[in-house]
Amino acid sequence: MSPRASPPPASRNPNDYVIATMGSHSALQILYGARQEGMRNLVICQRGKERPYRSYGVADDILLVDDWKRGWNAKLEQELIRRNAIIIPHGSFVAYLGHDRVQKMKTMYYGTKEILEWESNRTKERVWLEKSRLLLPKVFQKPADIDRRVIVKFHGAGGGFGYFVVKSPEQFEEVKRKKYPKETDFVIQEYIVGVPLYIHYFYSPITGELEIMSFDKRYESNADSIGRIRAEDQLAANIHTSYTIVGNMPVVVRESMLPEFFEMGERVVKVSQQLCGPKGKNGKRKGLFGPFCLEAIVTRKLQTYVFEISARIVAGTNPYIEGSPYTALRYCEPMSTGRRIARDIKQAIEEGRLAEVLG
Ligand code: AMP
Ligand code: AMP
Repeated sequence: MSPRASPPPASRNPNDYVIATMGSHSALQILYGARQEGMRNLVICQRGKERPYRSYGVADDILLVDDWKRGWNAKLEQELIRRNAIIIPHGSFVAYLGHDRVQKMKTMYYGTKEILEWESNRTKERVWLEKSRLLLPKVFQKPADIDRRVIVKFHGAGGGFGYFVVKSPEQFEEVKRKKYPKETDFVIQEYIVGVPLYIHYFYSPITGELEIMSFDKRYESNADSIGRIRAEDQLAANIHTSYTIVGNMPVVVRESMLPEFFEMGERVVKVSQQLCGPKGKNGKRKGLFGPFCLEAIVTRKLQTYVFEISARIVAGTNPYIEGSPYTALRYCEPMSTGRRIARDIKQAIEEGRLAEVLG
């Protein structure tokens, strides 16, 4: 049997499909969300990592692979295709499989695959966010241009480990020489002083509506622990700031900021429809849809600087498995982002519009 990339099956019965994802990141939420919508689900786990999915009892089926490199192969894809699985991508997909393999995946895939390129290529990402008229931290093309506090990010710095903050070309060269002599792929961004805020959106091509689902802030090691010791001791102990993600905490924002956040999300979706994905009958491209997140720093003057976009579900939605204060207003039932995805898919299937939510 040869794998089928498209078109999707014609059935309008959600029971003929399975919501599938990889076991990590936000899988518990995605699987539970599918179940809440009455859809079947399955999780693909690396052998030895399946315990949470068994323990919490949220998975209808668990497929095990020995490792991601060899395990996500044609045989697995054939099995997923046979089951009419619809893959829900999250942060671990690209981290474990890489862009290329995600792009080439033949199993049905929720989202626009081309968006991955716009999200991961810093130049493209910046074009997209600039066109969306968002406030962005200034980027310095070369270290010699550094004239203020900057954050230096190495490409592929897993979860914020290996970023550093300096304020002059000399300081940059010193840290680089001592700690990262071989690295050549990095970005130098103005360091914005303010509080980090992650804005979780959902845009449905089926309803045509943009929703704000929730907000989070991150719990990062050791950025969130340095303040626990005196400045003098920090200096004496020569502690470097790192942003390794450990968990996420819920945030409810000042209400007067909401109108701006809605408009920001709306512009990002609109611009994506000019830039990315196949063109539809209405001349618009498929663009960004489903869950996405603007990663921002809000300053004391209430300016919202966006330093990154995630064009998929973020793990910061995990505190809201039973819904957020915002989804409580919008829905009369618990609505997580995972459940919202399942509902989008279910509605698309029932209306014969599944192709509109597949990439
Ligand atoms: P993991 O499967 O936990 O190794 O995570 C895969 C990728 O997703 C890494 O790049 C992480 O930085 C990111 N990630 C995982 N969990 C979270 C989280 N709770 N918040 C933000 N990012 C996360
Ligand atoms: P990231 O891995 O891109 O999600 O970033 C990790 C951490 O670095 C986040 O918690 C942000 O607070 C911080 N960060 C990233 N970019 C900036 C920036 N331009 N200014 C201030 N903090 C930043």
